[in-house]
Formats: sequence, structure tokens, C-alpha cells
Amino acid sequence: MSEKKSEFAQTFLQTVGRPLKENVDLRGFSNFKIGGPADFFFEAETAAELKAAVRAARDVEVPFTIIGGGFNILFDDAGFRGLILKNSAKGLALADPGLRVKAASGTSTGELVDYALANGLEGLEFLAGIPGTVGGAVFGNAGAFGQCLGDFLEEALLLTRRGGEMRVSKDHFQFGYRHSKLKLVHDILMEATFRLRPGDRGKIRTKIAENLAVRAKKHPPQDTAYAGSFFKNPPLIDGAKTAAGYLLEQVGARDLKVGGAVVYPGHCNLLINADRATARDVLALAAELKERVRARFGIVLEEEVIFLPSTVSGF
Ligand SMILES: Cc1cc2nc3c(=O)[nH]c(=O)nc-3n(C[C@H](O)[C@H](O)[C@H](O)COP(=O)(O)OP(=O)(O)OC[C@H]3O[C@@H](n4cnc5c(N)ncnc54)[C@H](O)[C@@H]3O)c2cc1C
Repeated sequence: MSEKKSEFAQTFLQTVGRPLKENVDLRGFSNFKIGGPADFFFEAETAAELKAAVRAARDVEVPFTIIGGGFNILFDDAGFRGLILKNSAKGLALADPGLRVKAASGTSTGELVDYALANGLEGLEFLAGIPGTVGGAVFGNAGAFGQCLGDFLEEALLLTRRGGEMRVSKDHFQFGYRHSKLKLVHDILMEATFRLRPGDRGKIRTKIAENLAVRAKKHPPQDTAYAGSFFKNPPLIDGAKTAAGYLLEQVGARDLKVGGAVVYPGHCNLLINADRATARDVLALAAELKERVRARFGIVLEEEVIFLPSTVSGF
């Protein structure tokens, strides 16, 4: 195993031009502040580095996974047997005819919102305050206030698991509520182009401020260790959605905790790391909540937060 490790470290250095790190504690890379060590870790600063890192991992058959800001991910207590690729490849540009914004996937959603505002482009105000990168937001079709990012995506560049590049249009993603095809095939989003509308900067700024004020009232303090809503809002038989938080409150979630993982009393769909929680604590708490909702309402809640097990196949 250690032979394979050093073979990979060498191949990586030759292919990417910068060394990877070994045995990196993942706690600092997830807003849950949970996770064991990753065998290998690399922060790609450019698209070229990201591509080269994927090539190196494929050549030596090392499992890998990409992360953005870590705001929707729960790492395993055992860490990750393979390479964690943190995407910090940033960049924003206006695309012809000026109503489209092209973003590198490691750009933060905050930077994208600010850029649209600075260029008098309207549409992405709902995204203000949703933390993470463009890649993570497209992956999960991030949204708020009845809107989601997929509504604005026009085309994108993907790096497939096999290492090829593919230009795709919006239809490719099969966007749904917190869903995109990236969740099924695990291709990597390299860049995305969003079509926006011309707008008034003052009005855009006001809308952003209003949205941020609503969020500040609803969400826990900024330094809370969690990953946003834990479960998706489930669809009812008539297609409408009901709030997972409401169902959870009905089954007594408010008082529940396992180890250091607790239900946030102000919003039952937020599971927080209150005191040195482990992934095992969070998963046990989530399992208890799911079971209570299933037993009482016959509804099986689906996780929105992505749990990354320490060993993966097919990656
Ligand atoms: C305080 C708080 C508030 C939140 N509010 C909202 C909200 O209102 N609405 C909402 O939708 N979400 C919300 N979230 C969740 C989170 O912000 C979003 O899911 C965000 O889009 C995650 O982006 P990320 O870069 O942090 O992704 P990560 O957590 O790093 O990764 C999430 C998943 O995306 C995949 N991924 C990341 N980058 C790429 C890429 N380039 N290509 C392919 N796959 C990729 C990863 O492999 C992983 O499976 C909130 C979270 C927090 C902590």
C-alpha cells in the first residue's frame, strides 16, 4: 500500500507540477467540522490543475472526489481512502452578448452574485447567502425563495470521469428540486454560463439585502457547524411539497440529540455539530428522525446533505 502511495505521489507531482498533501484532516474542509484524514489532498487553483489532478488519479487508479466549499458535505469519521480534490479554480467573465456570465466552477456563489450586481444583471439575487462554489451549487441545483440555479444555466463544460471534456446545454443536467444529473454520473463541472436579465443595480442590491435579512432571521449564527437543511422537503401525492422541518417538529425532533449532534431548536431540519460530534452521531440522529417521520406519516425523508463514505467504488 505504501508503495502505491508513493507511486501516486510521484505520478501526481509529474502530471500536475505541484505536490499533493498526505493524511490531511478533513474537519477543516466541511462546515460540519467533522471528518477523519484523507489519504491524499490537493487544492487545485486552476482548471488546468484540476484536469491534471484527475488524470493522475485515473492513471494510478486512485479513487477521488471533488469538493467545493464543503457546505453541503459530511465526511466520514474514517476520512477518505483516496484523493480529495478541493476546487479553488476561480474566474468570472461576461460572455457575448453581455447578458451571460461565465463562471469557473470553483468561484464562490457570493462572488457570482456580486459580479452580476456589478454588471447590472438581474436573476441571481436568491443565491445571496447560499454558501459554497458554483460547482457545488450546480451539482445540487441550489435554491431559495422558489428559485434555483439550474433555471439560469445555459451551457456548461464538464470533465467526465474518464477524463474527456464535454460541452453540454441545460437539458443535460435534468435539473429538479435539489437535483442534477451530476449526482448520478459524478462528472465534474468545470465552468458554467448563466443567462441573466438586464436590471437596475439599486433594485438588485435591495433584493439581495432583503433576502439576506430573511435568511439571517431563519438560520443559526454564522459560526454554527452544520451543512444547511439536512433533508429535502418531501413531495406530497398531489405534487406539492411539505416542509421537512414541520414534519420533524411534529415527531418531537426539537429535543433530540445523539452524542454531540443535536437538532437546532429554531429549525428542526438543521442538524448541528454542537459539541465534537462525529459523523456517526449525525447519521444516527438522522436515522432516528427518518424513522420517526416514516412511522408517523409514512413519508421517507431523503437526505439533502451528501455523506461521503471513507471508501467509494466507481470513482
Ligand atoms: C448556512 C448554510 C445555508 C445554506 N442554505 C442553502 C439554501 O438556501 N439553499 C440550498 O440549496 N443550499 C443551502 N445550503 C447548502 C450549500 O450551501 C449548498 O448545497 C452549496 O451549493 C454547496 O456548495 P459547496 O461548494 O460547498 O459544495 P460541497 O459541500 O463542497 O460539495 C457538495 C457536493 O457537490 C459536489 N461538487 C462540488 N463541486 C463540484 C464540481 N465542480 N463538479 C461536480 N460536483 C461537485 C461534491 O462532490 C459534493 O458531492 C446551505 C448551507 C449552509 C451551511
